[in-house]
Amino acid sequence: HADTAMYLAKDSGKNNYQFYTNQLHGLSSRKMELENGLRKALEQNQLALHYQPQIHLETGEIIGVEALVRWIHPEKGIISPAEFISLAEETGLIVPLGKWVLENAAFQNKAWQEKGYSPIPMSVNISVRQLQEDRFIDSVKQVLSDTQLSPKFLDFEITESVMQNSEKTALILGQLKELGITLAIDDFGTGYSSLSLLKHFPIDKIKIDKSFVDDIIHHSNQGAMVKTIIDMGHNLQFDVIAEGVEEQEQVSFLLKNGCKVGQGYHFSRPLPVKEMEELLHKNMRHVDILQ
Ligand code: C2E
Ligand code: MG
Ligand code: MG
Ligand code: MG
Repeated sequence: HADTAMYLAKDSGKNNYQFYTNQLHGLSSRKMELENGLRKALEQNQLALHYQPQIHLETGEIIGVEALVRWIHPEKGIISPAEFISLAEETGLIVPLGKWVLENAAFQNKAWQEKGYSPIPMSVNISVRQLQEDRFIDSVKQVLSDTQLSPKFLDFEITESVMQNSEKTALILGQLKELGITLAIDDFGTGYSSLSLLKHFPIDKIKIDKSFVDDIIHHSNQGAMVKTIIDMGHNLQFDVIAEGVEEQEQVSFLLKNGCKVGQGYHFSRPLPVKEMEELLHKNMRHVDILQ
């Protein structure tokens, strides 16, 4: 397998051989450039987190925030994770990258609590490859002890694909639950998980994928799928959150059908830390007013 050859070469530090192997297997030079760049980005601290609020649809309150990684490239500017996460997964770079994300997200959340903002959970995206790493649980414990963040303020978002490697993953997810971290299925509805399979995993929450939320306003089935997912999620005792909410009409539909939490451009794009803090500040006042 071409990728395997590439890792072996790299792991033993034979740079010339690595280059040769990549060429031999036709890995594009753009991809190689991206990989080397990403490696450097990690070393040189060119990564940043942006934060997108999760909103209670009835009160407008911020009840959670998702950390989304950005690569701040010295020449190219902000590069979206859509451009580098899958490569990071392929090459294994997702392990150190994901560790960086988790550490920084946890530190940030703790810092916000210390500044006096209303404590809310931080959602962090975790790749299957990270979950399957032997030292994953230990590194999570390490982050919790380094940051002194209570695990109930961490929420891990994983995709349905984790369920394919079921036994080992179920074990790890169980350990995370035991630590007190909540678990969400991201992009729900786009994978291959069956309902019966879902029951075997200690999941707290499903995030309805944006493509279904789009259907509420753009397609003829008028949100029938969303309605089905909300009902199913609640029947299985999951919290349900809608992703990619862009319009008020979607909010109304979601509320009418029992989904009380949403995330999307209608409320806010993912924001750099300073701007997120402004929202958290208003949120604090909002909560004060409600009380
Ligand atoms: P995701 O976890 O499903 O995150 C939601 C994505 O949808 C984010 O894109 C967000 O900016 C975007 N989004 C949110 N609301 C709206 C909306 O109303 N309209 C539209 N058009 N888009 C919206 P982003 O930040 O580019 O991230 C893309 C994906 O990259 C994420 O999807 C996630 O799968 C992955 N990702 C991002 N950060 C990390 C990370 O730290 N670790 C891992 N493993 N994956 C990450
Ligand atoms: Mg996510
Ligand atoms: Mg998603
Ligand atoms: Mg996604």
